[in-house]
Amino acid sequence: MSVVDRKAELSLALSAVRAAARATTRVQDTLISVETLEKKDKSPVTIGDFAAQAIVGSELSKRSAIRSLIGEESANDLRQNADLRARVVELVQAVAPDLDEGDVLEAIDFGGADPNATGGTHYTLDPIDGTKGFLRKEQYAIALGLIVEGELELAVLGCPRLENPDGSIGGLYYAIRGEGAYRLPLEGESLEGEPISVDAIDDPSKARFCESVESGHSDQDWSVQVARSLGITSDAVRMDSQAKYASLARGDASIYLRLPTRKGYEEKIWDHAAGALIVEEAGGKVTDIDGKPLDFSKGATLRENRGVIASSGRFHDAIVRAVKAFEPR
Ligand code: AMP
Ligand code: MG
Repeated sequence: MSVVDRKAELSLALSAVRAAARATTRVQDTLISVETLEKKDKSPVTIGDFAAQAIVGSELSKRSAIRSLIGEESANDLRQNADLRARVVELVQAVAPDLDEGDVLEAIDFGGADPNATGGTHYTLDPIDGTKGFLRKEQYAIALGLIVEGELELAVLGCPRLENPDGSIGGLYYAIRGEGAYRLPLEGESLEGEPISVDAIDDPSKARFCESVESGHSDQDWSVQVARSLGITSDAVRMDSQAKYASLARGDASIYLRLPTRKGYEEKIWDHAAGALIVEEAGGKVTDIDGKPLDFSKGATLRENRGVIASSGRFHDAIVRAVKAFEPR
């Protein structure tokens, strides 16, 4: 990363995620949550997803030295659906008025890098991580990570619904490898965050642990047994999205378990890149369920890993052992 100006990349990544969060907040605020869920109408989240990727893609394509972005979305569906396209463009323009329809499609396509042809150096973006939480008007995140030759270097996590210690809602979490993890207000343009760190609890039985709301994303029967064996008596804090990593990084929980619900599922890099670096830089530890480091050098998925264990690092090996001991056959 010596040739890349990390401070410059950080500053544009922060402003890109802030702008994207303005768009997703607009959408989430206008959702009639229950109605949307009952109708199984996913279009708001689809529009928010595309708009957020367009905003981040546009910022990176204009200003970043990194010429490759692996995003979750592709613009093909938008090209075929004029109504959807118009709604996405309208939303993007509410935040970035100078972008026209062509710019929006191009910016989304910028996020369509071939994960196998990028030499392991690329940004990765989940424009709305935790779509189910987004629709429930609960937690979601905008997650942007920079991977350089397979190593996490920079992370920005927008958490528009995460509550702060002072009671305000929403924050921006970021990290540069070797330089710590920080929190900033989501609004404004400040680039000087306050440092955050994982908690100092040494006794596993006093630990709080978090996991997905969705039982299809992490095995909740398995995690109950792990928690019990560590002596944890409090219930899991269930939360959608990489807001779990942010909570861990600022000391609200000591453990985040993501235990595979089926054999062969490959975790997506955009679901973990930003959060994992922020936790590590806040002093924590992140491995897979076998205790191996996450390998971000294999394209769009963590295909060399199974699941994720993130923790404050104080008793990580004990967690790995407990996870192993209760692995379902
Ligand atoms: P969460 O909000 O933590 O439940 O995670 C949301 C993410 O789970 C989505 O972005 C999906 O990419 C990912 N996902 C989808 N199916 C699975 C699965 N079977 N196991 C683990 N993660 C999944
Ligand atoms: Mg996701």
